[in-house]
Amino acid sequence: MSRFFSDRFSGLSPYTPGEQPKERRYIKLNTNESPFPPSPNVEEAVARESAKLMLYSDPECVEIREALAEQYGVDISNVVVTNGSDEVLNFAFMAFADEKRPLIFPDITYGFYPVFAKLNRIPYTEIPLKEDFSIDKNDYMGKNKTVVIANPNAPTGLYMGLSDIEDIVKSNPKNVVIIDEAYVDFGGQSAVGLIKKYDNLLVTGTFSKSRSMAGARLGFGFGCQSLIADINTLRYSTNPYNVNRMTCEAGKAALASREYYDENCKKIIESREWTERELEKLGFETTGSHANFVFAKSDRISGKELYLKLKQKGVLVRHFDKQRICQYNRITVGTAEQMKILLEKIKEIFEEENL
Ligand SMILES: *Cc1c(COP(=O)(O)O)cnc(C)c1O
Repeated sequence: MSRFFSDRFSGLSPYTPGEQPKERRYIKLNTNESPFPPSPNVEEAVARESAKLMLYSDPECVEIREALAEQYGVDISNVVVTNGSDEVLNFAFMAFADEKRPLIFPDITYGFYPVFAKLNRIPYTEIPLKEDFSIDKNDYMGKNKTVVIANPNAPTGLYMGLSDIEDIVKSNPKNVVIIDEAYVDFGGQSAVGLIKKYDNLLVTGTFSKSRSMAGARLGFGFGCQSLIADINTLRYSTNPYNVNRMTCEAGKAALASREYYDENCKKIIESREWTERELEKLGFETTGSHANFVFAKSDRISGKELYLKLKQKGVLVRHFDKQRICQYNRITVGTAEQMKILLEKIKEIFEEENL
């Protein structure tokens, strides 16, 4: 830290992204990226748009918002797009939470929530998931707090039904409820339809996972017109050109290739179920994930050791040091071939270690 760093931020511990190693080619199952490339028309759209890079992007991002509005059945005034969904989450925290409206979210969830809360000096409470890692809706009902829930949740992969979400939204009419749907395409139903009924619901999503565009940074938020207007006040106070030209075009092209991405999601879901079954055969416990990762632990080896041994063998998975989940690893679902290799490597480790 320099001697100039503001006291406001000196206590921050920033989010730790999954490793992106350069020294060796790994089978990368650690950051929930898609193993599939973007659809061919995305590549084409980016190449075409790059010829216009001397011009600023459209600050209103009208075309991509129109396309999102159409696909999700809402009005364009209900949509904001951002530089990854991390950005819309940060804006939403800034806009809708403060000392008077503190945040609540699960103890085991996306690691960025406490970071954004601290960055914006918002008090927060982490509510323990139930023993089986599910969310008890009663913990969030009628709390007069700003609620954030990832659905499906990460890194557990557990999904909460829409009627539970609706109960939480309905019972906190003085607060915004933020539902982070980064993984919804892998086995959940979106809550977007509920924004017409509730003015306190913000639903966020991303092109990073199911749409193979993590590197393009495109996220979105759906909410009633006035919630979106508030987020835009912050967006225009930060960076009106937060989504670049090529990413806007890539997003439009991706939305136009719905079948391609639906097919990829189907493959991921099949591989996920295969991987969970195979891991269970080896004695692992899995959570029954609804996302593009599995969350698994074994009594035969610690979570940390399995992570390290897999890394030595060229397979990267994500391990969290957090006490409640340190026995687990979060394993991104790659291609069927990659998952086969993962299973082979785990069997090798068990043999070599006589486990
Ligand atoms: C990956 C992820 C995001 C956001 O990713 P972006 O790449 O910023 O869109 C948001 N929430 C959860 C739970 C995630 O796993």
